[in-house]
Amino acid sequence: MKLRTTNAGLKALSLLCVLCASAANCISLDREAFSITNYDLNVQIEPEQHRLGVRGKITLRNDSQSPQKIAVLQVSSSLDWRSIKAGDKVVQFVTQPFTSDIDHTGGLSEAIVTLPQAVAPQGTIDLEIAYEGVILLDATRLTRIGTPEEAATSTDWDQIATNFTAVRGAGYVAWYPIATEVANLSDGNSLFEVLGRWKYREAGSKMHFRFTPTSDDPSLPQILFNGVSCSGPAVYESTRGTRVGPADCLYQTLRHDVPAFVIADYQTLERPAIEVRYLRGHDVAATNFADAAEKIAPFISEWFGTPRERAKTADLPDPHAAPFESGALLLTPLANDDPKPAGLAATHQLTHATFLSFRPWIEEGLAHFAQALYLEREKGRQAALDYMGLHRFALSQVDAQTTVPRSEDEVNRSLVNTTSEELYRSKAMCVWWMLRDMVGDAVLKKALAAYRPEQDKDPSYMPRLIAAQTQRDLEWFFDDWIYRDRGLPDFKVESAFERKTMTGSFMLTITLDNLGTAGAEVPVVVKFAGGEIMRRMEVRAKNKAVTRVEVSGVPQEIVVNDGSVPENNTRNNVFKIEATEQ
Ligand SMILES: [Zn+2]
Repeated sequence: MKLRTTNAGLKALSLLCVLCASAANCISLDREAFSITNYDLNVQIEPEQHRLGVRGKITLRNDSQSPQKIAVLQVSSSLDWRSIKAGDKVVQFVTQPFTSDIDHTGGLSEAIVTLPQAVAPQGTIDLEIAYEGVILLDATRLTRIGTPEEAATSTDWDQIATNFTAVRGAGYVAWYPIATEVANLSDGNSLFEVLGRWKYREAGSKMHFRFTPTSDDPSLPQILFNGVSCSGPAVYESTRGTRVGPADCLYQTLRHDVPAFVIADYQTLERPAIEVRYLRGHDVAATNFADAAEKIAPFISEWFGTPRERAKTADLPDPHAAPFESGALLLTPLANDDPKPAGLAATHQLTHATFLSFRPWIEEGLAHFAQALYLEREKGRQAALDYMGLHRFALSQVDAQTTVPRSEDEVNRSLVNTTSEELYRSKAMCVWWMLRDMVGDAVLKKALAAYRPEQDKDPSYMPRLIAAQTQRDLEWFFDDWIYRDRGLPDFKVESAFERKTMTGSFMLTITLDNLGTAGAEVPVVVKFAGGEIMRRMEVRAKNKAVTRVEVSGVPQEIVVNDGSVPENNTRNNVFKIEATEQ
């Protein structure tokens, strides 16, 4: 009797599944089976209503190993699906909310689409789609994990509004369809991993957007888009002043950027290296930024080549808004009249406008490395090391989190594979700096000049370009720092013996131990009565190296690592030399 009830219960449950048609609850959905290889969308924006209405065509490609009859399409939870067609046929789809932190609202509107026929692996299908809704200031994904309201809205500042509209794509606002598994901000690196997979699958996708703001408000004259090109009368003059017209914008995901658009009443400052769009009253900050960019431009060219495009900076109205960068476009509040931080920001941005790579450790690593070079040039090596020290703090936190079994982490967390910002920004910057210390400016500049993004088909491409410029064996370094994540070195002076020479100087024999799991070349400073001398020592992981240094006075102290090599323990880096009987 009991058994029968259970059976009946099960049957009722499976029947319910069929009836409710919420396929997601019954069969496990492969949300990442399809990539979207082409977008051709008409985007209507009504700032007064905060509305976005999208109609157009997308192409789906089955990237999974098996035929797929179900496709999942997601847009922000503040948008609603209106229609989905394949050819002229209306296809069956059900919609459901899907909780995910990939969108600022903390949720997505998911359409589970039953395709007219199964799509074979690598096969494609075109769908006509329509969806619409509002994009309001919304930081739910941050406030629900305890971020204070003000900080949350300064981070998730995307919205469509009358006075200012700025909307960033996947990872901020799903204003175009995506297809992703759940991302959870309170679960470690989950958001970055989901986003990283999405961007990887979308590499090479084509996007074509036609923007049509339907505003009669003459105070909204400019559309700014971070794509490869925009044409059409995006801005035109009418009897009522400057007006917005339709803008035809192309975007190709060569980098790990996301398409973003801004509509605002900007003033424009144009210089050869940069274009700064700023809000009324921010003239001083805008001029400072443009001046800083102009000043640093020759230095950037010297290191990274001729600019590929003109850098674009655009103002954000909230003075506390977190800056957003996408290739050569930087959105940042220009309310601060202090010219100092402008140089650092402009350096990063100009590097992006000059050096293109779709590999984050190269693209972002070099832009941060350029900032360290800039500081060294302005204020000396110590300023650069201090700047890297701030990044290294984040890095040592990451390293501390890593648990013992790390054989697969070695590959997943390597610079060539990682989706973690701490690694492809902070660690990559340190790696570029160490390489530069090892091979010298001239060699590194030559290697960078030989880089062609379209020829970068293999993770070893850049390391090989560097190796080609030097006699030195760097394979061990690439292996410990780039191809794998071997953690960090830990240097310790094991011993130091001194001997007085015939000429009255001192010969010091230093044995340096690397207790850590990554090798490096590290500066070693010997302090003696009357001065100090620096040597660089290459010490492989779990290994020792010996060097002899001749100094003119009594040796007193040995200091390992000036801060240029990230290390997981710096408490054992000073070695006092005891006075010995002569
Ligand atoms: Zn950057």
